[in-house]
Amino acid sequence: MTDLSLPTVTEHPPPTPPACGKSDTFCIRLWQHMRLDSSGEARVCCAYQAPTIAQNGVPMNTDRHSLMEIWNSDEMRGLRRDMVEGRRVPACASCYTEEARGAVSLRMRDNIAWEQGWLNEEKATIEEMVALAVDNDFHLPKLPAMIEVETGNLCNLKCRMCHSVNSSLIAKDPVQRSWEANPNAGNINPSFQRSGRTFRRVGPIESLVDELAKETASRVRRLYFLGGEPFLVRELPILIERLVAAGRARQISLLFVSNGSVVPEWLALTEQFRRVDLTISVDGHGENYEYIRYPGRWADLAHNLEQFKQLTNIYMQVTTTIQANNVLHLTDLFRYLDSIGIGALSVGRCTAIPDSSPRSRPPDGLRRSRLPPGKSCAGAVIRRPDRCQQRRRRPQPAARLHAVHQRP
Ligand code: SF4
Repeated sequence: MTDLSLPTVTEHPPPTPPACGKSDTFCIRLWQHMRLDSSGEARVCCAYQAPTIAQNGVPMNTDRHSLMEIWNSDEMRGLRRDMVEGRRVPACASCYTEEARGAVSLRMRDNIAWEQGWLNEEKATIEEMVALAVDNDFHLPKLPAMIEVETGNLCNLKCRMCHSVNSSLIAKDPVQRSWEANPNAGNINPSFQRSGRTFRRVGPIESLVDELAKETASRVRRLYFLGGEPFLVRELPILIERLVAAGRARQISLLFVSNGSVVPEWLALTEQFRRVDLTISVDGHGENYEYIRYPGRWADLAHNLEQFKQLTNIYMQVTTTIQANNVLHLTDLFRYLDSIGIGALSVGRCTAIPDSSPRSRPPDGLRRSRLPPGKSCAGAVIRRPDRCQQRRRRPQPAARLHAVHQRP
């Protein structure tokens, strides 16, 4: 780990501004990353807390604008200028907050990764890229190294911790939609949410097909697809075939986030790409999987995981969302994944559905299936679980009183 992983010390500012890679405001994402949502609008990144990219206040869309026009819009250029000139961007607050707490933010992590060569074969330094942007009034001549594409909410599962924004089955189910903490939350065009139906736009994928053939896309090195379930999207194999036919496959790596319920035939084409990462979302083992990922079947998933393993050039891992529905069963899943040689990555906790949050009590049925009657994990008898829960929710004493209570 280099010293870049630490927050910049601001008490004694150096006489000259810090190099951009070490500055408090520079973020490589404004130079090398673009996110297209399923409505065709573009976002700065998943952590950026502001609406989609706009020109003169009007949201830009792949229906009306080329990717290069979006990439070099007034808003994107203004953000680059602010970052280079050391001004904080209010919508980047989540990164600044993490840094203030001493954590490594997304911004810091990606700046470090770029300087260490991630997606950066040409070994372009941040200072060189910034100088080029400054000379061109913050226009960039090429599309970014990484483009992230939301393929829509088309999905064949309605997982308990998921949201209508990410599952068309949930969007059509008024009961499960009522579980959502805020049905209007999520980073999706509101007109799609109000409809409560499937949204799946092919605009962003068609734009990619056209634009990846142009010279301005020659620096694109990674395409990242997430849904819904991207393997159900019919336009995706068209893009993959076009990239192979255009001779671009060897330069590009792909990343898919999938629920693992289907193994599309076209996946065999991916061996022509530079590298393919496949992240499968699995939150439980056996019955616990079926409870969470309805109407998925464990036997089908286990079969598909073996199929994915047979494909060459695919690097697979499993991602797990910690939630009330699986906290008592995670070791079963991780033992199973160990036994079949698949790495697991936990991705924090569910927050969109309050009843599935790991702060909630696991559903009674799941607790009973896991524990001897009346026992907690530590073996203590729980006679009144409802009172235990109430106690946990009681306000804690103020810090000073807490310290007094802790004294021997
Ligand atoms: S600073 Fe953080 S929120 Fe802002 S663009 Fe970079 S990664 Fe995204």
